[in-house]
Amino acid sequence: MGLRLTVLGACGSYPGPAEACSGYLVRGAGTTIWLDAGSGTLANLQRHVSLAEVDAVVISHEHPDHLVDLNGFHVACKYYIDRAHVPVYGPVGARDALYSQGPPFDWHVVSDGDRRRIGGLELTFSVTDHPAETLAARFDGSGRSFGYSADSGPAWSLTALGPGLDLALCEATYLQDQEGALRHMSARQAGTSAREAGVKQLVLTHVRPGVDPEAIRREGAAAFGADVAVAAEHDEYLA
Ligand SMILES: [Zn+2]
Ligand SMILES: [Zn+2]
Repeated sequence: MGLRLTVLGACGSYPGPAEACSGYLVRGAGTTIWLDAGSGTLANLQRHVSLAEVDAVVISHEHPDHLVDLNGFHVACKYYIDRAHVPVYGPVGARDALYSQGPPFDWHVVSDGDRRRIGGLELTFSVTDHPAETLAARFDGSGRSFGYSADSGPAWSLTALGPGLDLALCEATYLQDQEGALRHMSARQAGTSAREAGVKQLVLTHVRPGVDPEAIRREGAAAFGADVAVAAEHDEYLA
């Protein structure tokens, strides 16, 4: 049935009014992965799966808008739902930044170029252009492929995840007029990156609160050369 992406939160950098930060579910090949754990995503996750159904967590980097809800998941696993050995994958900085350490989390430190099999999915990591060590990831499973940019400036491209991505989720924190302000991408830069990588279907995410999603969609589509979607909570996309 391919790979299924569910948006748990899509706000860039800090939460908007009643909107969660970055977090996603990636499901396929009998495996459920919680990808990034920004504030609000633990609450939204439970509308789609139970906490017992999360097979593993993947964290792209240590910034709070991708990490903090892992603390609540640790409390739940340790004291309330009796889970043992919950695998968590991420860069060393994310592990060290987390308040909640130790069992039942099994931390697997990953870095640029690493490949890991998680259940039925094959993951490949690529370090991006961002102030803290940040890992984009490619997911292969059920004959399909999905790529996630995590946070990145324009010095990194989706091409680093390899060819043939059926679905890509790329950050687009702001519009072209803000390019260079931070090590993030504009919608134009995200669309260009996806076009160069030959992505089939593009979803933009990590839009900063206050930036018009419709303007993001238009600018991204013009650069991509085809329609794009802007991630919103509880949206689902199939690769
Ligand atoms: Zn971020
Ligand atoms: Zn960041």
